[in-house]
Amino acid sequence: MTTAPTSLPAVAGPVYTKQDEGYAAEIAAWNVATVHEPLAVVGATCPQDVVEAVRWAGALGLPVAVQATGHGAVRPARGVLVNTSRMNEVSVDPVARTARAAAGARSADVIAAAAPHGLAPLNGSSSRVGFVGYTLGGGVGPLGRRYGFAADLVRSVEIVTADGVLRTVDADREPDLFWAVRGGKGNFGIVTALEFDLVEVGSFFGGGIYYPIEHAGAVLHAYREWSAGLPEEMSTSVALLRLPDLPALPPPLRGANVVHLRVCFLGGAEEGDALLAPMRSAAPAIIGEVLTLPYPAIDAVHRDPVDPMPTRERGVLLGALTAETVDRVLAAAGPGVDVPLPVVELRQLGGAFDRPPAVPNAVSGRGAAYSLFVIGLGVPELREAVDAATERVLAVDRFPGGLINFSGGAGPEAIRANWPPADRDRLLGVKRSYDPANVFSGGQPLVG
Ligand SMILES: Cc1cc2nc3c(=O)[nH]c(=O)nc-3n(C[C@H](O)[C@H](O)[C@H](O)COP(=O)(O)OP(=O)(O)OC[C@H]3O[C@@H](n4cnc5c(N)ncnc54)[C@H](O)[C@@H]3O)c2cc1C
Repeated sequence: MTTAPTSLPAVAGPVYTKQDEGYAAEIAAWNVATVHEPLAVVGATCPQDVVEAVRWAGALGLPVAVQATGHGAVRPARGVLVNTSRMNEVSVDPVARTARAAAGARSADVIAAAAPHGLAPLNGSSSRVGFVGYTLGGGVGPLGRRYGFAADLVRSVEIVTADGVLRTVDADREPDLFWAVRGGKGNFGIVTALEFDLVEVGSFFGGGIYYPIEHAGAVLHAYREWSAGLPEEMSTSVALLRLPDLPALPPPLRGANVVHLRVCFLGGAEEGDALLAPMRSAAPAIIGEVLTLPYPAIDAVHRDPVDPMPTRERGVLLGALTAETVDRVLAAAGPGVDVPLPVVELRQLGGAFDRPPAVPNAVSGRGAAYSLFVIGLGVPELREAVDAATERVLAVDRFPGGLINFSGGAGPEAIRANWPPADRDRLLGVKRSYDPANVFSGGQPLVG
């Protein structure tokens, strides 16, 4: 169907079709490079709205996509888009140390609900990101080397599958679907809520050090040696940033090309400072704020952009961070190289990321030592330049597989290649059982 539908789903929330005034605001994504173009967008307010939207789409033979914030908007949604942003309730059980987050909750909502109890979720680098989408994609965050992937702590998943049925799945109920959705992301249905464990973290020693990009060689090689010996209580990353000239940034960073070291240490300031010493002396810093902070200040580690921007992303995994890899990254995106890549990031994995979770899941990437991730400017006129520059950065010795959250708009074949063959086949089997018609083909589809 390419024309406007003649009926609308029976939902409590708003429904907009292309000619409606509210349509543009309802489909808007954080990644403004992606403009969704569904025939209808449903502003879901409750699980039943999601059920009705999926049944309605099914009756019309339309594909269904889902969006909470649009941080992971990598391909335009067609058919029906379910906007979950109104479903943002979070509840915490401080005695059981668990939380329940509805589909549209951002990590910031979960952090705010957990912090008064001295607890924290395994959120990612930016608390503006949707907690459910992030977690279903694995979820690599600043507590991860100590506690693992966000998906590893999920206890149960409430999900509307392609048949329009709302199911609660866990280790005992529909265990195959429970396995697949924790890591296989949006391919199996629309998750209406997650229940998960929180960790006992009230504060952290962390922040970032910015160096002029001229020192990228010294900083990245120092990082390579330093990070390899860190305890798993310390999660780190380092990025080559080409920053915009925006008033939101402190003056020395506006429009600057810099190297940004990010650290989050679950330990005291004295020990943290001692661990950080080799990086403090690696090169002169522009700004270097690393201190003990309450957990809700966790965005101070990565200082990701808040405002919507156009992005085009790709990532690979590394088995080790070798001198050769560092040299290749520097040659492709280091000082003096003009590339339309705002972010080239090396993020340390290992530690708890390598350990299997209590209940096995479909998260890929265990065993890799680092992720290498590139964010290009997602504007049409730079597309070829971005892709060519990205290829050059990622032309390094790789670890097999990848992370779906860092796979951007890769096609189904490349998405499938994130998993080893046995897991990939199992994912495809669960997909065939629960979504044989590939209704959930938006986002990062396993099947094209
Ligand atoms: C600034 C920024 C920082 C990031 N930092 C990290 C990080 O530190 N670690 C990390 O692992 N990832 C990170 N990511 C990637 C991010 O986790 C993914 O893009 C994630 O999909 C975003 O979820 P969202 O709901 O906010 O985005 P949306 O664009 O709203 O959704 C993206 C996709 O998530 C899935 N999804 C969302 N909601 C549901 C649902 N209810 N049911 C089923 N599927 C759903 C769907 O596949 C959907 O297409 C970052 C992205 C950005 C832009």
